[in-house]
Amino acid sequence: MLSYQHAYHAGNLADVHKHSLLAWMLAYLTRKDKPLSYLETHAGRAIYDLSDAAAAKTGEAEAGIARTLPWFSAEHPYARAITATRAAHGGQSYPGSPAIAAHLLRAQDRMDLAELHPGEFNALRNAMSPLPAKCHRQDGFALAHAMIPPTPRRGMILVDPSYELKTDYEAIPGHIAKWHRAWNVGIIALWYPVLTSKTHQAMADRLQASYAGALRHEVRFAPARPGHGMVGSGLFVVNPPFGMAQEAARLNSHFDAL
Ligand code: SAM
Repeated sequence: MLSYQHAYHAGNLADVHKHSLLAWMLAYLTRKDKPLSYLETHAGRAIYDLSDAAAAKTGEAEAGIARTLPWFSAEHPYARAITATRAAHGGQSYPGSPAIAAHLLRAQDRMDLAELHPGEFNALRNAMSPLPAKCHRQDGFALAHAMIPPTPRRGMILVDPSYELKTDYEAIPGHIAKWHRAWNVGIIALWYPVLTSKTHQAMADRLQASYAGALRHEVRFAPARPGHGMVGSGLFVVNPPFGMAQEAARLNSHFDAL
């Protein structure tokens, strides 16, 4: 059984990186009225309480969103999603990726979320109801293989594994190649940790070599604890929306100044 629980890490600097760019992409996609599909392979519980024992134990949100929220204007889609979540769930709540997407998507859009952990899945389902999001308690890669290409074809998938299975690093480029062949217009966004061990590097290099025009974006930060192996956050995006590189560069300037 996998033991990773995102509650210990919600709102950390990697989440700020991933979630702010996710919100930016969804805001871009929803500028047009046309409906879209949003898929997630590893959804988590959607709503986190940053005052709970898990967040307090690591202090990662304190070093993350608590410090970095001023990087985003009140109109930035990430800030809007946080404000809406706090209005609905309390001032110490934090939106995971499904809650950010739920805030930005419209009635005409479709949302399919996979989460395998039973407790996280139940929390996700409760957080998402009564929204018309479909929550699937199944392996996220299998769900994506079954659903891609989605209807409507316009849209994106977020792939956000915990990488507890080291085989994910080997397998993910093959998954992405298959999805891209079947869905050449889809935006495929993969999050990965930047590690002192460089375990992520071969996967990221392989992806970068395979997709002309993709965006590989990495930010660096101090480890959450002395000796902790994660020293940055990466997002690899196939078919990045126009202008995303500028938003990513804006983030670099903030991360570099931390
Ligand atoms: N995407 C979430 C966010 O940004 O708010 C965080 C997701 S967390 C990094 C990874 C999640 O994947 C965990 O909740 C874990 O239970 C779940 N998980 C692990 N293996 C899975 C699998 N094979 N399929 C679907 N979910 C899985």
